[in-house]
Amino acid sequence: MGTPRVFLLDDDPVIARIVEAAVAREGWLLTHAAKLAGALDAALAFAPDALIIDVQLPDGDGFSFCAACRAHPALSTVPALFLTGVNDVDSRLRAFSIGAQDYIPKPFAAEELLARLRAHLRLKAERDHLKGEKEAYLIRERLSRDMSDMIVHDLRAPLATVKATLSLILDEGLIENHDYQRLMKNAEFASDFAIMMVSDLLDLKEGRLRVNAEPTDVGDLLGRVRDCFSARFQMNGVALRLRPREEHLVATLDAAIIFRILVNLLENALKYGRSGGRVEFGAEASGSVVIFEVRDYGEGIPDSVKTKIFEKFFRTDTAKDGAAPGFGIGLAFCRLAAGELGGRIWVEDGVGGGSRFMLEIPRTRPITAKAKA
Ligand code: ADP
Repeated sequence: MGTPRVFLLDDDPVIARIVEAAVAREGWLLTHAAKLAGALDAALAFAPDALIIDVQLPDGDGFSFCAACRAHPALSTVPALFLTGVNDVDSRLRAFSIGAQDYIPKPFAAEELLARLRAHLRLKAERDHLKGEKEAYLIRERLSRDMSDMIVHDLRAPLATVKATLSLILDEGLIENHDYQRLMKNAEFASDFAIMMVSDLLDLKEGRLRVNAEPTDVGDLLGRVRDCFSARFQMNGVALRLRPREEHLVATLDAAIIFRILVNLLENALKYGRSGGRVEFGAEASGSVVIFEVRDYGEGIPDSVKTKIFEKFFRTDTAKDGAAPGFGIGLAFCRLAAGELGGRIWVEDGVGGGSRFMLEIPRTRPITAKAKA
């Protein structure tokens, strides 16, 4: 703050002289108005850091001036001190109720007035500083959010190119060596997973998903998930078992979204539950719903975080054997997706240890109902 500026509204020339002299001793600037008419315009033009207001004025009262200042954005936070001979409780209470910061009865000591002004000016300077810091912080935060949104969005194209290139090399049989083929498959899987993470993040940002439900053979869907993961589990020494499934369990669902949910749950089962040595998954119909389950035999999840793990960016450092810790978006995506499918997802303790992630969705739902919405 530069040189403090004080605005005085008082019709008493003696008071005005005393205040003027006191303020001048401090090296502050002062502007003085003696009546209500035009006082607000004068205050606005002066842009004060503090207001000193008398209650009784020749053409009205100081309360209405204080209220007008409080209602004006440029003066609403400027400290207001009443300096007045009116000293009853009602007037004091009224002054504070319309937003005054202080009330000094006449006669007054100039030193006390200055001491109070100093305190209010310091508070205002601190408040202004904090406000400036907060605004700068919010601007920085918005910029960095916009930037990361842009990066996430733009990542999809190069990742898709990497994935397409790897798939082409594999599909065309351009590599004959089995070890290299396996490495390429790993890289292909990693690029798939990165694309999925980008999609999860973008969907989470949108806060909704486009659902395309159609009659689907759930057994086939689970089989495709197993084919996708079996090599990966094998490599990590974890047995992946698709539980015996109901024959011809058909449900009206969005297979791509269920696939993405299961990929997230199985990745986690591998990452956090591998100490258990095996992971099982499957699905069964129960009344009007289908329940998918991914079961690991790892260390399990403490009750205190069983719901928190579905929050965006919540994560712990329990990944095993140096596996990269995640970003806390997988389960947040699963919860969003479960909701968009008209269902729910939760986790339970498995009997004998480990976790059971359960996804329950309606067995039938109007085809593409949400997509049309
Ligand atoms: P990420 O795995 O990227 O950290 P997620 O949203 O997939 O994010 O998971 C959030 C957190 O939930 C993980 O950090 C982990 O602490 C916990 N978690 C998820 N799945 C399991 C599991 N199968 N066993 C133990 N903890 C798990």
